[in-house]
Amino acid sequence: MANTPVVPFVDLALQHVPLQDELMAAMAAVAARGDYILGNAVSQFEQTFASTCQTRFGVGVGSGTDALTLGLRACGLGPGDQVILPVNTFVATLIGVLQAGATPIFVDCDLETGLIDLAAAERAINGRTRAIIPVHLYGQMVCPKTLRRLSERHDVIIFEDAAQAHGAERDGVMAGSVGLAAAFSFYPSKNLGAMGDGGMVVTQRELVAQTVKSLRNYGSTRKYYHTDPGGTNSRLDTLQAAILNIKLAHLAKWNCDRNRLAKLYDQALAPLSQAGLRPMVNHSGSGHVYHLYVIRLTDDCAIDRTRLQQELAVQGIQAGIHYPVPCHLQPAFHHLDYRPGDFPVAERLSQQILSLPMYPGMTEDQLTYVVEAVTKHIQAAPVLI
Ligand SMILES: *Cc1c(COP(=O)(O)O)cnc(C)c1O
Repeated sequence: MANTPVVPFVDLALQHVPLQDELMAAMAAVAARGDYILGNAVSQFEQTFASTCQTRFGVGVGSGTDALTLGLRACGLGPGDQVILPVNTFVATLIGVLQAGATPIFVDCDLETGLIDLAAAERAINGRTRAIIPVHLYGQMVCPKTLRRLSERHDVIIFEDAAQAHGAERDGVMAGSVGLAAAFSFYPSKNLGAMGDGGMVVTQRELVAQTVKSLRNYGSTRKYYHTDPGGTNSRLDTLQAAILNIKLAHLAKWNCDRNRLAKLYDQALAPLSQAGLRPMVNHSGSGHVYHLYVIRLTDDCAIDRTRLQQELAVQGIQAGIHYPVPCHLQPAFHHLDYRPGDFPVAERLSQQILSLPMYPGMTEDQLTYVVEAVTKHIQAAPVLI
């Protein structure tokens, strides 16, 4: 094996150690029951996860990308409909819109939080706009009050991409419960992760839930009678649901740990603000679930991001960039006809951000080691005059 990092970016196996026996028993129970497709564990997990989000219905699907695609379709979105989304998101948000057949309309983001710029979103609304997808990036929710006001004023659907925000809350509103429906992912590294792929659409509307149930199952609600075009095979796996049922009970505690670690990072990195290094801003206090802990090397910062990331790697610290290329500059989406300079804030952010290690169970010693490595590197840099 290559050298194990002193501080890995995430440690996925760590969270399973104390749950080992329970997880094994749950998997053995599925094996014994034999309900491998849409089994008991799936409906159980759909109900508990939906109620955690303070929503009425949850429908488990094969991935977060499919939750976006099928969720958008079930909300009635398709060809001819414009859907507004932030340009600085994981590419799956865009893929969901495209697979639903709708037209993506990008908008820029806020420099301090990385969240969608809602003033820009409002300016982008026109007669063909049917929906806005707020992405609760890094685990922080986009302001629910402003979203609901936008939705009412312009008669547009709010469909949340909550793939990074399981259990997040802002102003008393839970992620997933802001608008008509929301998509979650259970990709292993998410705040609530399976041991494989998985996703869910949550909604308050029974018709939306029923439609997703049909779409995930070949477009049929009754075996061999197919009523919904746009159907596919994308079901949350029963084994994954059995695992998620056990892990869900620990989500709040894990999120608390992330929030606590983030506060420690914020405090320890505060002295570097003069040198131009600043954490992304938290407007939701303890409701921020820190899927990622992201810092920004601002215009005033004398150090080079690549050099810092390399230096950390030498010290055994894995850092990441989420994301290095905004969606409009990805070669695959050239045909959407955007250009460099179209979204100056997102483009600048993509050059300045760095995600530091963050996961439940990361120790304070590890955090201190990261902070010291960053601090030393910055102090050694020449001062900008
Ligand atoms: C992970 C993620 C997705 C996609 O989820 P998958 O389960 O990997 O398909 C969508 N949107 C965002 C913001 C994500 O972080």
